[in-house]
Amino acid sequence: MRRTLIKEATLVNKGKQFVASVLIEGDIISRIIPHGDELPTQCDEVIEAKGQYLIPGVIDDHVHFREPGVTQKGDIASESRAAVAGGVTSIMDMPNTSPQTTSLEALEAKFKLMGKNSLANYSCYFGATNQNTELLSNLDKHEICGVKVFMGASTGNMLVDRIKSLEAIFENSNLLIATHCENQDLVRQNTNHYKEELGATEDLPLAYHPLIRSAEACFQSTSLAVELAKKHNARLHVLHLSTAKELELFRNDIPLEEKQITAEACIGHLMFSDKDYEKFGTGIKCNPAIKTIDDQSALRAGVMNNLIDVIATDHAPHLLTDKEGGALKAASGTPTIQFSLVNMLSLVDQGIFNIETVVEKMCHAPATIFKIEKRGYISEGYYADLALLSKNNPWTVSKETIQSKCGWSPFEGTTFNWKVDKTFINGHLTFNDGVINSDIRGKKLKFK
Ligand SMILES: [Zn+2]
Repeated sequence: MRRTLIKEATLVNKGKQFVASVLIEGDIISRIIPHGDELPTQCDEVIEAKGQYLIPGVIDDHVHFREPGVTQKGDIASESRAAVAGGVTSIMDMPNTSPQTTSLEALEAKFKLMGKNSLANYSCYFGATNQNTELLSNLDKHEICGVKVFMGASTGNMLVDRIKSLEAIFENSNLLIATHCENQDLVRQNTNHYKEELGATEDLPLAYHPLIRSAEACFQSTSLAVELAKKHNARLHVLHLSTAKELELFRNDIPLEEKQITAEACIGHLMFSDKDYEKFGTGIKCNPAIKTIDDQSALRAGVMNNLIDVIATDHAPHLLTDKEGGALKAASGTPTIQFSLVNMLSLVDQGIFNIETVVEKMCHAPATIFKIEKRGYISEGYYADLALLSKNNPWTVSKETIQSKCGWSPFEGTTFNWKVDKTFINGHLTFNDGVINSDIRGKKLKFK
């Protein structure tokens, strides 16, 4: 069995930082060797990691890899390359592909594609619709990460807007229910209102995007999701919170393991505010919309005070040609997975987060809330999914560094102080100092 020793790294794990060495045997972390203890000999590879940080690989519970069917924007191979280059070792893909992942056959086919093409470990959500609620009780909770419900239409129209269907989903799902929350009636009313006000027939300026997809639309829809979860005692995970007000609906007075209702924040909402539309244009247009600087501050505080449990990306590549237009016409969604970890570490350098919290929200918490088997922590007997990082190692994002098939990033030209040096997936060195080993495939995630 292949033995790799990562020597004398600074581990960030379970809320602590400490120097230790890690022995990988095959696909498993076999030993964590405290600083000063005797190190094993006869290793196939020894990586000198003094001064570097070793964390569990990032688990991104919210990605859109666009395959099958929308592969001009991205595919499983290209987007999983972007993931591993960013220290992400496991991903959970959303069902708004083509065909949509809304039948058992489509889900099976998607898992096959993932197994064939994904460099990262993977799972897929099953998409609930107004028509397929009777299938929910057949889904295997050990094999599928969750059920996705679009309680607001976004890319690929999968809106579930009938209260009867929503009730059935919350009543019948044994799996975690992940929701995209925006009240579609309110979004429609706002659209018509601003069209009328500006005398516009087709499009509206980008600045109107957060007024159309308003804070109130988010609050109303998130409130409904929380209410339904409580009524049916369902396991709810609200995706991409974008407003201060929604935070009122969540709790931080119970341990994560006991939470029935959890919340996610995404890179776009944590890094940008409506002030940035002018600079970045439609590149940062996403749904729910990026809102005010006060919302951004509240979300950042929510990460630190545990009202928000998970940081993910909502990685959603689009071609630049899809991004033409304004508030109504430009496609919503931003590719972020390759730079999610270094962005969050930049907030550590700014004193907004601490590194233990970044590891908690990006690595540990997704494993905890989805009950992923043997991942998310640096623990003996767990899969060797690891990211080795260096600090004070500045580098600048250029077109050439971007792995996403769409070929652009809002972070192009940004200099990051942290760098992902190596990414191990199941013990394989999948990303090594800028070079991706595209021969290796991830494993399907299993859930306890
Ligand atoms: Zn999404």
